[in-house]
Amino acid sequence: MKYFIFSDIHGNFEALEAVMKELDNEMKDKECKAVCLGDIVGYGPDPKACIEEIRSRGIFSLAGNHDYAVMGKMDISYFNAYAKDVVHWTKSVLDKEDLEFLDKLNTRLIEEPFTTFVHATPCEPEQWNYLFTLYDAQSNFKCFNTRTCFIGHSHQPMFIIQKETGDCWVHAHPIAWIRDDFRYIINTGSVGQPRDGNPAACFSIFDTDQLTVEIKRVEYDYKTTQSKMRKLKLPDYLIDRLEEGR
Ligand code: ZN
Repeated sequence: MKYFIFSDIHGNFEALEAVMKELDNEMKDKECKAVCLGDIVGYGPDPKACIEEIRSRGIFSLAGNHDYAVMGKMDISYFNAYAKDVVHWTKSVLDKEDLEFLDKLNTRLIEEPFTTFVHATPCEPEQWNYLFTLYDAQSNFKCFNTRTCFIGHSHQPMFIIQKETGDCWVHAHPIAWIRDDFRYIINTGSVGQPRDGNPAACFSIFDTDQLTVEIKRVEYDYKTTQSKMRKLKLPDYLIDRLEEGR
């Protein structure tokens, strides 16, 4: 089977639509389970449409920190001013059903024997820490038992691989072969606000028969998203970053 993994949509419906087309293609030839790693809302102009798309497709989703923020489940004092403003605005455009959907999302999914899914880190998924470095990865490898763990949150697609000796390294290639003697933390990147210098929407596919994981990109019409954001008077900083992928 295949897992189709995506994260950090952030209310960007054009990016989500482009990724959902890729999902439809993948589902044609093989059993394919889609998993969303959270942050469906926050930053972008279409939080409601993004929730509806995921809900109507019956896609399993975890919660991200922005979903928690909108539900008032976390302290947002550390959010930047732009993110804070958008939390309040997002809440104002969601209805009761949308909020109930967000409220039910968990923060960890384990699919034995293949993989673990979280939004932030496997050690403390509800602390919303970032996993950027090999040092961060080393402690996090101790917090899951499956061979692979998919994460989101930093919006930077990345493979970190660990040998049996405990040594870790970054695998700088969009495809990795899953070996019996290695373990993997895979950041699936962001659908709606990539921050790795590439504005194209990001997602990944784990083929459990071929034992490969591929991080993939699909271009989307960010100009439409930007013009919606301008109409809503969302901050320029959030508008500009979409075309720069930062
Ligand atoms: Zn995010």
